[in-house]
Amino acid sequence: MRCLLCSVETHSLPTFHQLFTLEASAKTLCEDCSLRFKKIAEHHCPMCYKQGEHDICSDCIYWQKQGKVVNHQALYCYNSGMKEYFSNYKFQGDYLLRKVFQNDLKLALKSYRDYTLVPIPLSEQREAERGFNQVIGLLDGLGVPYQELLTKREVKKQSDKSRLERLQSQNPFELRIDKVLPDKILLIDDIYTTGMTLQLAAQLFYEKEVKEIKTFSLAR
Ligand SMILES: [Zn+2]
Ligand SMILES: [Zn+2]
Repeated sequence: MRCLLCSVETHSLPTFHQLFTLEASAKTLCEDCSLRFKKIAEHHCPMCYKQGEHDICSDCIYWQKQGKVVNHQALYCYNSGMKEYFSNYKFQGDYLLRKVFQNDLKLALKSYRDYTLVPIPLSEQREAERGFNQVIGLLDGLGVPYQELLTKREVKKQSDKSRLERLQSQNPFELRIDKVLPDKILLIDDIYTTGMTLQLAAQLFYEKEVKEIKTFSLAR
């Protein structure tokens, strides 16, 4: 097996555990490359998984004050290694890289078995430029089912408006009205920064009285 990032031969033998489980999964990265990524460990914000927080983080306090719910899980810190990864995957369009984190993603998404996975869409223009939606790429790499319930339109940045005004006045997402909505939805994005994107998407489902909405991202 070759490392997906540097192509070095990884020579990894299956671990004892892998030999005796059906989940045996080949390593996707060599030792050196895997060191560039940092999994979110203990001491993260209980609501959004921001690393290094012992209590609810300032982003989540902001959302709470707006009466919004944050119920997010993320797997990796958005560090320099992750930035480089996304630059290669998203912007240089190396589609093979969708598989780099497949083992962790697969494992994490198992806890959401009864949820319908809904990827955050790109606008048509953006998807045409990039050639693919990076979130859908991740899900396709796993081979898990998902539903594209949202569309996105390109919205001009209006810097004269406050964050909340923008939130209320110009949600770039729309529901695909031809679909019956599931009870439980897991909204999936690649990176969680302030939580704005996922809040905007979640708002549409709350308005349709979807009972449970959680959110998930590869990086935070
Ligand atoms: Zn490597
Ligand atoms: Zn938080």
